[in-house]
Amino acid sequence: MLILGTWRNHEIKISVRPQERSLTVSATWKGRLFTAVYEGGGRPRTFITEGTVYRRALDGRMLAKWRPKDLPRQRRWLSQEEALAVEARAREMVAAVYADIQAGAFQGNGELDDLGHLLFQRAIAWDEAASRADAARYRTIYLPIGILPPDQYSAIVLQATLGCSFNSCTFCTFYRDRPFRIKPPDEFRQHAEAVKDFIGEGIYLRQGVFLGDANALVVPMRRLVPLMEIANEVFPAAWGSIGRRNDRAANHLETHRGAWGGVYAFLDGFSGEKKAAEDYAQLAALGLRRVYIGMESGHAPLLHFMHKPGEPEDVLHTVKAMKAGGVSVGVIVLVGAGGHYYADAHVRDTIDLINAMPLGRGDIIYFSELVITEDMPYARDAVAANVRPLTHEECVAQENAIRAALRFEKKNRPLISRYDIREFVY
Ligand code: SF4
Repeated sequence: MLILGTWRNHEIKISVRPQERSLTVSATWKGRLFTAVYEGGGRPRTFITEGTVYRRALDGRMLAKWRPKDLPRQRRWLSQEEALAVEARAREMVAAVYADIQAGAFQGNGELDDLGHLLFQRAIAWDEAASRADAARYRTIYLPIGILPPDQYSAIVLQATLGCSFNSCTFCTFYRDRPFRIKPPDEFRQHAEAVKDFIGEGIYLRQGVFLGDANALVVPMRRLVPLMEIANEVFPAAWGSIGRRNDRAANHLETHRGAWGGVYAFLDGFSGEKKAAEDYAQLAALGLRRVYIGMESGHAPLLHFMHKPGEPEDVLHTVKAMKAGGVSVGVIVLVGAGGHYYADAHVRDTIDLINAMPLGRGDIIYFSELVITEDMPYARDAVAANVRPLTHEECVAQENAIRAALRFEKKNRPLISRYDIREFVY
C-alpha cells in the first residue's frame, strides 16, 4: 500500500508492504527530506537524509554512508549516542506524522489500513530503551558476525560453527577473537530458536539462512547433516520464500539465485576438497544453494605469502565437486593482494584458474579489494618483503584486467560484482 499526500505543506510518501511487513515513511521534517524504514516489529532498519544512508545493524550499531561530490563513497560507524540520536529523530518524525493522521490533519490519496496503523505504533514504541535492550539481547545470541557476501546481507545468520578452522590468513582478522568450534546439535537448535525469536517479524525482510561462521561446511558430513536438518526445522520457510525484497539489486540477484531462500555458507577451497560431489548433492537436497569460496588468487606463491591454506588446484577441485553436486558457487578474488610484487602473476594465474572453472548462471564472481589495517599480519609481512600496496586506482585496473580476460558461454554467464567488506552490515 502506497499513500502519497501532503503533510505540513510538503509531499509525503507512506509505504506499507504486507509481504515484507515493513513501513517506510518519507517526509520533510525540520526542513530536510527524511526517509525511515522499519521492520514489522518496529525495529529501525534504514534512514536516509541529506545524501547519507544510515543502516542499523542488529547489534544496534549504525553505519553512515555518503558520497561527496567527485569523491569515492565515504562511510563511518556512528557512536552509540549518535546512532540513538538518528533513531530518535526518525521516531519524532514518524510520531508527528501518525498524530496528524489520527487527528485527520493529513491529506493523502488513501487511508492507512490496520497493518499500517500497527506498524506505525510499533515504530513509535521502539524508543531508546527498546533499542538498547534489543542490542543487548543480540549480544546474548550471537558472537560478532565478521562478514557476509554482499548478496547475503539480508540472510538470517545461524552460527553452526564459531570462528575459522584455520585463522591463519594474514589479511583476515575477522575471527581472531575466538577458537574454532562446532556447535553440538542441542546447542545449535537452541541458538537457531533464539535467533528466530529475536529476528521476530523482521524475518519477512530476510531471505535464506547463512550458516556461519567462516567455514561452517568444514564440518564432517555426519555432524553437518543434523545441523542442516535443524536449520531446516527451525526455518522451514528458508527453503521457500521468507520474504521478497523489491529492490532492483534483489531482482537482479534473483536470477542468480534460482529461487529465494535456501542455505548459504563460506568454505575455503582446501577444506571443500575433502567433500565429494555426492556430499554436495546431499547438502543441496537439504537446501544448500550456494557456497562462497575465498579463492583470493590463482597464484600459489601469493597464497603462501598470505598464509592461505591450500593450493589453487584445491579451489578448482572444490568448485567442480560443488557444481557436480548441484550447488552454486561464489568465488571471491582478493584484488590488490600481494601489491606490485605479485601483481602480474596474480592477474595471470587468477584468470587461468577462473577460466578453468565450470561457472555459469547462478554463480557469482566477487572482486574484493584488499583493505589493509595496521593490526593485520599482512601489513607487517608486506613491509618486511618490500611488497608495495596498490592504490585504489591500480586495484580497479587490476580488477578490469582480470574481468576482461574471463571467458564464459554467452547465455550462461555468472554474475560478476564488487565486494566491499567495509559495506557489511548485519
Ligand atoms: S580461511 Fe577465510 S576466514 Fe579463515 S583466516 Fe583465511 S580468510 Fe579468514
